[in-house]
Amino acid sequence: MQIDMNEFYLRIYGDPVLREKTEEVTEFGEQLAPLVERMYEVMYEEEGVGLAAPQVGSDLRMMVLDVPLEEGGAFRGVLINPEVLETEGTQRDEEGCLSFPGIREEITRADRIKVRARGVDGEPFTFEANALLSRAVQHEIDHLDGVLFIDRMSPVRRRLLAKKLKKLAEERTAEV
Ligand code: ZN
Repeated sequence: MQIDMNEFYLRIYGDPVLREKTEEVTEFGEQLAPLVERMYEVMYEEEGVGLAAPQVGSDLRMMVLDVPLEEGGAFRGVLINPEVLETEGTQRDEEGCLSFPGIREEITRADRIKVRARGVDGEPFTFEANALLSRAVQHEIDHLDGVLFIDRMSPVRRRLLAKKLKKLAEERTAEV
């Protein structure tokens, strides 16, 4: 597994890497540390609560999270090869994405979820999530499948955003 740190910068809508499916992580431990560190760095720079590897140009199936919890505190951690085992109910709330600066839309997601993932050390664990944490995990897992939150919007909302999306993609190419 080659990790080129110069490749890890925030990818904006229009970058083809955001549509690629990720690869299961099979090698754990220290070698993941530079990528994890860079993902946290980008997430905090942009004041996000979650970031998936494709958003910094990596094809690994992993995400970082730092989500404030309703009951206080925060869920901070790395989820590798995450899977949703169970879902219950639905929730609808406003959602943003670091790869879509300036765009926020109401998205329907599962309310409560049960998740299985591995940590950086490869150890599997499961946990249950609701509210924002549940939403963030579902949003980031979508990224790992090349699915973006615009895909979850109604066709009408997406049409209304068409100009903004076009501009985002154009600005992105202009910068490169
Ligand atoms: Zn996102």
